[in-house]
Amino acid sequence: MRKLASIQRIKALEPIENADAIEIARVLGWQLIVKKGEFLPGDLAVYCEIDSLMPEKPEFEFLKPRGMRIRTIRLRGQISQGICFPLSILPDGFAVEEDSDCTEALGVTLYEPPMPACLAGIAKGKFPSFIPKTDETRVQVLQKLLDKYKGEKCYVTEKLDGSSTTYFIHKGEFGVCSRNLELLETEENSYWSVARQMDIENKLRSLNKDLAIQGELIGEGIQDNKLKIRGQTIRFFNAFDIGRFEYLPFQQFTDTMEQLQLPTVPIVSTDYELENEVDAIIRMATIKSKVRPEVWAEGVVIRPLSEKLDLLLSNENFNNGRVSFKAINPEFLLKYGG
Ligand code: ATP
Ligand code: MN
Repeated sequence: MRKLASIQRIKALEPIENADAIEIARVLGWQLIVKKGEFLPGDLAVYCEIDSLMPEKPEFEFLKPRGMRIRTIRLRGQISQGICFPLSILPDGFAVEEDSDCTEALGVTLYEPPMPACLAGIAKGKFPSFIPKTDETRVQVLQKLLDKYKGEKCYVTEKLDGSSTTYFIHKGEFGVCSRNLELLETEENSYWSVARQMDIENKLRSLNKDLAIQGELIGEGIQDNKLKIRGQTIRFFNAFDIGRFEYLPFQQFTDTMEQLQLPTVPIVSTDYELENEVDAIIRMATIKSKVRPEVWAEGVVIRPLSEKLDLLLSNENFNNGRVSFKAINPEFLLKYGG
């Protein structure tokens, strides 16, 4: 689970050229701007990530013009992501311990963009328990994982900013799901209309096995259609073998997509040796879209070529333990307000 607000150590403070009132703080794999002198290296602070919606309390009043939402900003040429507050903002009696989650204690909630009608749909039921939901953890909180898998051969795909879609065949039944629900077929619903348009049901049935495929629905009416796609379509990033309860590794995934004649998300690299420096990975994520080269990509998703599960992730309820994570392009966040 993502911790929007947590107790973190200020790992380092660095001066900014020609700025004497502010400095850069390093917290987890994030960099942010703080008032000079407010913290010392090694101090603990309450760190709130981007996308935090802060409650309307006097100490957060300064965020009111920004809708109480913490976003990526650039100050004096420096990217700043998140805000550090002194421990004194914690409620009385809160046990101060590095890395502990104080999201609820502070009343912080996650900013979520409004949902367009074409994605709402009518629930058929909960998301099926025989398929994992899609999710990706942010690289900034995964230093230990990076250290452990440094040098691992990975593939990198472009992260598309649309809406998560899952299609499956299970015990002879075709199902369509949004991020969190299985949906009934209705005419207005894009997950279903795109399934019909792309002939997904027939294609999946042709494989004669219980399989789920997961991708990103993009196009008109979805997340402002930043990539300016005509109509709507899906680019796939997962194939999941339901019987074995495991993802197909990269090569099998792309072979399956080829066989089904379905498009994958853009592939940025198939021979990336994982680095363990967050900044280097963020630089790699600062790219233009392969779908529309004049537009910033949202970022990248990085995974080992051979599928891996790791307790470092499952213990924190990240991604069902799957070694797979995202690096979001800060330029994308600056431009679109994330
Ligand atoms: P957060 O947890 O950071 O608050 P979030 O859970 O809403 O954010 P996203 O930022 O949308 O998640 O990132 C995860 C989602 O990215 C996945 O659920 C998937 O739908 C989508 N996605 C888009 N492109 C890709 C890709 N290339 N590979 C994997 N997932 C992708
Ligand atoms: Mn998530």
